[in-house]
Amino acid sequence: MSLSNCSLPILGFAAFSGTGKTTLLEKLIPALVEKGIRIAMVKHAHHDFDVDKPGKDSYRLRKAGATQMLISSRYRHALMTETPDDECTLNQLLGQLDQNNADLVLVEGFKHQAFPKIELHRWALEKPWLHPEDPNIVAVACDEPPSSAPSFALSSTSLPRLDINDIGSLVGFIQRWMESHHAQTATCDSLSPTMLSMEDGKSQILAAISVSKNTETCGLNELPNRVFAVDIVAPVNVPSSTNSAMDGYAIRSDDIERETYRLVGEVFAGHHYAEKLSAGECVRIMTGAPVPEGANTVIMREQASNDNGTVSFDTDKGAVRAGQNVRQAGEDLRKGSTVFHAGKRIGAAELGMMASLGFDSAEVFKPIKVALFSTGDEVQAPGIPAKSHCIYDANRYTLRAMLTKLGCEILDFGIIEDTEAALNDTLLAATKQADMVISSGGVSVGDADYIKTVLNQLGDINFWRVNMRPGRPLAFGTLGDKPFFGLPGNPVAVMVTFLQFVEPAIRKMQGDVYWQPETLSAITQERIRSRRGRTEYTRGIYSISTNGQLEVRSTGSQGSGILRSMSEANCLIEVAPNVDNAEVGDRVSIIPLASRL
Ligand code: AMP
Ligand code: MG
Repeated sequence: MSLSNCSLPILGFAAFSGTGKTTLLEKLIPALVEKGIRIAMVKHAHHDFDVDKPGKDSYRLRKAGATQMLISSRYRHALMTETPDDECTLNQLLGQLDQNNADLVLVEGFKHQAFPKIELHRWALEKPWLHPEDPNIVAVACDEPPSSAPSFALSSTSLPRLDINDIGSLVGFIQRWMESHHAQTATCDSLSPTMLSMEDGKSQILAAISVSKNTETCGLNELPNRVFAVDIVAPVNVPSSTNSAMDGYAIRSDDIERETYRLVGEVFAGHHYAEKLSAGECVRIMTGAPVPEGANTVIMREQASNDNGTVSFDTDKGAVRAGQNVRQAGEDLRKGSTVFHAGKRIGAAELGMMASLGFDSAEVFKPIKVALFSTGDEVQAPGIPAKSHCIYDANRYTLRAMLTKLGCEILDFGIIEDTEAALNDTLLAATKQADMVISSGGVSVGDADYIKTVLNQLGDINFWRVNMRPGRPLAFGTLGDKPFFGLPGNPVAVMVTFLQFVEPAIRKMQGDVYWQPETLSAITQERIRSRRGRTEYTRGIYSISTNGQLEVRSTGSQGSGILRSMSEANCLIEVAPNVDNAEVGDRVSIIPLASRL
């Protein structure tokens, strides 16, 4: 059974009735709360328990047939759901908790379900131990054995043994267990309850990021790749005057039927014809030149013959439409209308339009300053001969390139020695100077590096294990008020987690609110391996087949250290957690990389 609905640590208590579970919890909960641990409880109760009281309005409404009754007041609310046919599973119940507002779920009851539990034991009850039978027990808490207790009954377990009457030692154990909780479940590659889905990871990150408040006015040439901080309103009509779309002859539309016209002048772009055009007259006009007053129709030069100032047109009379070949003033953009909304990223077309409206500058968000460093004693800067057992630092360079592409200002702190002092100093300096801090390496389960210790001291950081490959370990949180990303060490994992988590966060900070990552659908030409329960990113090459279909194949070997696979790829093939391997001919989602790397 999986408890996939819950990403928080879940801890239960296994005991025979009479051991005093609730009494213990009543003492334990305030002690945990005092340590800043927010508790959610799930408790099993007998068949027809009711929290409601007969006669209360909510009770009457339920009895009247409301199968869900949500009652709320200033201090608390409660949802009562009738489940006459089948009891909810623990996993369903966990899904109803507000997991953003708790750190630990304590469970009383559900003893037959598999989740970590502390066994409570009191000798006076003369009951057998439960842990020999229940592999989910992580510690035992018992009282002093009486001197009469037979030695075999003391149990030879290697589980931690706690004093059931010493709440402080129970709290200490639970805190340590919560810390090592990730490490414990990391070895289990299944749908572990502490695994975070890609979607949850992304939405938690985006919820923690706010749009920058720093804006500045920049000249046209500095605008590309910046994001408008304000709406841009057209100060003029585009085109500014009604003008000709062709080289030809302007006439009046009420004068189409005539055989010949008298040529009374000519008008070039950038000039105008000062007189009002009368019936029987025409004006030779160039593309872009303002149409003379009175005229509103242009006939192409190719259809005209000019015999000494007498112009005739070689067209079917019926074929000339009033108003043809004329662009109306304000036809593209009307003065006062919004051209771009704040949040639009500026590319070539936007820049051209700004210029065409006469703007020589615009108010845009300031570049986000990103502090960057690599960790790990084995990591060495390129450019010096390789030391034995060392690898060159690739991550700082892939990250620099991706950050540059996004228009960030980079504060490169280099490779930081794996000591508490060095990491501490770097993180403090980085936090002070930058809007966001990114490190790589040292965040995976079992990493002996100091970065985790230092991050724990300085910030509010979560060490996640995201249900994805590559890139499972990911640290995210805040250092002071600055977002911090601790990316994995593996070079491909760094790039994939950057694309999936860091880029959306940076774009949000930059005010780039309209951005959505591009995904396409392609037919796979080969079997794409993927394990159910996690999102897998295979480096792929997509192309258009001879019959016009998008098709994709992998770049071959997919180790998360094989950076060459990222270089060969033009897309990531994304296989969702609810899908096993994708077979030849299956449709798969692909994320094109061209615009992002
Ligand atoms: P870690 O997450 O620190 O355990 O690192 C995972 C793997 O990535 C190890 O093989 C590291 O040697 C490698 N690695 C860590 N940092 C870098 C880096 N900056 N450049 C290239 N490889 C790295
Ligand atoms: Mg390491």
